[in-house]
Amino acid sequence: MKRENSNKSYKKALELFPRGVNSPVRAFQAVYGYPIFIVRGEGSRTWDADGNEFIDFCCSWGPLILGHNNKYVREKIIETTLNGTSFGTPTMQENELGELILKNNSKIEKIRFVNSGTEAVMSAVRLARGYTGRDKILKFSGCYHGHVDHLLVKAGSGLATFGESSSAGVPQSFAKETIVCELNNKEAVEKAFEEFGNEIACILIEPIPANNGLLIQDKEFLEFLRGITTKNGSLLIFDEVISGFRIGFEGASGYFGIQPDILTYGKIIGGGMPVGAYGASREIMSFIAPEGPVYQAGTLSGNPVAMAAGSAQVTQCLEEGFYEKLEKKTHKFVNEINDFAKANDFNVKVFSVGSIFWFAFTDLEKVQKAEEIDLQSMEIYKIFHNELLERGIYFAPSGYEVGFISAAHTEEDLKITVNAVKESLEVALKN
Ligand SMILES: *Cc1c(COP(=O)(O)O)cnc(C)c1O
Repeated sequence: MKRENSNKSYKKALELFPRGVNSPVRAFQAVYGYPIFIVRGEGSRTWDADGNEFIDFCCSWGPLILGHNNKYVREKIIETTLNGTSFGTPTMQENELGELILKNNSKIEKIRFVNSGTEAVMSAVRLARGYTGRDKILKFSGCYHGHVDHLLVKAGSGLATFGESSSAGVPQSFAKETIVCELNNKEAVEKAFEEFGNEIACILIEPIPANNGLLIQDKEFLEFLRGITTKNGSLLIFDEVISGFRIGFEGASGYFGIQPDILTYGKIIGGGMPVGAYGASREIMSFIAPEGPVYQAGTLSGNPVAMAAGSAQVTQCLEEGFYEKLEKKTHKFVNEINDFAKANDFNVKVFSVGSIFWFAFTDLEKVQKAEEIDLQSMEIYKIFHNELLERGIYFAPSGYEVGFISAAHTEEDLKITVNAVKESLEVALKN
């Protein structure tokens, strides 16, 4: 595989950006080689600066549920930009996307658009604090919520503990407001509430944790979180930036049949443009400025081009059978690989939900906690990733990242991929 032009561009980028990138995982630190510069995408495929073609399962880290360069999304973007790109006033495009979402997603009654998932979660946490008048928040190790100060916190020592900041620049005093528990562990959460019950503003969780492997939780655990927050006057926030509009139009909340108090979205609702959003009941959302006392604003929030792209995308997601078809395709893909692994006694399992999948090099039947992920297995992923690239299959450049199947992936694409996966597993697992 030729990588001359990508490598040349990366060399240039190294002079411009920290480790050559504008978001860390892109730097290929967890896999072999240097980042590949993509110049074009169409449907399930991307092409790089050296003319290599890939079947892409990164899908821009989740937003591209229709694949690359979807015709209607592109047309809507072009049509909108002909009138300008930003006005700093309300626009029709905001109404259109807002209405599309609220009409078809029963979990929220009002929504506020922001520019990224990080911003959505940051605002949702502020809203929970403003609404409850409490300061502490409870999160789980193995969930990612963007690079918000109070959430760049990892577990300290002990069972239910105050966190320690996981990034330089996050004051220890901020981390002290965050309690970190193990996923799928009721006792840890119970203990936290026994100790700090009336100080906890909210529990924040990815209902389908998909940023540190795919750690599918027991429905019962999520129901337990609903119960204990209600009982203690705390709010339950589902961070659905990745699962929202991916697992179904109502995301994981619809999938599990659970009503959280605040929801956050991003990724898919922007159709590939930068967007985030948070929503809740009318009553809770009335706390947001200028209606209420919780301040939150944005120069480019609800940007008409992003809103138009989002509308064009989610309109297509609303088509009859859209999610069923995606899930069926994903099942078939995952089952074929799991059957192959089993038949060959390979120590790998593909976990999946909806159209999200994750390769875990493990002999565990389930992986539900960050602590259960085998660090050593990431060495196997490195080889696997490189073998796949050589065969024209683009997986995210880290074994902790999930893969996505889009509506643009054809049966033929998946057949080619299954074969490439089999060959790559043979290389990776025979070393
Ligand atoms: C991607 C993601 C975020 C952060 O969104 P950005 O747009 O990258 O800021 C937050 N929460 C979850 C669950 C995510 O998957």
